[in-house]
Amino acid sequence: MNGGGARGFRQPRCPGCGLTAALCLCTAWPPLPAPFAISVVMPPQEARAASTSARLARLWLTGSSCHVRGESQHPAEAGASVLGARAEGLRSPDELVLRPDSALLFPGGKVPAPPPTRVAHLIVPDGTWAQARRLERRWFAGAALPRVELAGHFPSAYGLRRRADPQLRSQLCTFEAIAIAIAQLGEPALARILLARFAEWARRARWLKSGGPVPGALPEPAPHELPEHPASRCF
Ligand SMILES: [Zn+2]
Repeated sequence: MNGGGARGFRQPRCPGCGLTAALCLCTAWPPLPAPFAISVVMPPQEARAASTSARLARLWLTGSSCHVRGESQHPAEAGASVLGARAEGLRSPDELVLRPDSALLFPGGKVPAPPPTRVAHLIVPDGTWAQARRLERRWFAGAALPRVELAGHFPSAYGLRRRADPQLRSQLCTFEAIAIAIAQLGEPALARILLARFAEWARRARWLKSGGPVPGALPEPAPHELPEHPASRCF
């Protein structure tokens, strides 16, 4: 117990992984080389949410960045978010959509289209389903980027969002969707490692969310002890 101070969900969070200091996973594993650059774009409300999983892309994949829609481009001023200087403000989508071989991770029609043959930069709208859809419509739909759509049903290790949207067909967190996109774009082994890391993160986040007393630091899990992510069986 921590003496009646902030408990569970209300404890101060690590800006890197979003967990508490006792549960922090920032130094547990090194970042891995991503097969393409990843730009997560979130509304300011999401950047202030402790539960945002997008930060894990920045933590575990090289070449990943988080952007807050409409906020100052000055990282220090974007610091109102829980991501702190780890997120950059973005006033317009132009600098992202104009990058060569950009694609958008977002469902298009009723049936997922086959993935594009070459992706050098993946743009990921983040937030609740309504927020992400608004971002997609207002910022990205006009650019007619090729889409990366998750083909199939993939179980989440966490299900942070309260309601699954039927169009998304699952409760995947943003980070899980990114990992599965990496699998679909040709790197399933990397995706499995990322999902296993996420499963460990989710285990700790659930524990925190339950509001129970958080004991001292957990031992850092060795790679071979990582829990299997249920979606890893789907590809
Ligand atoms: Zn951390």
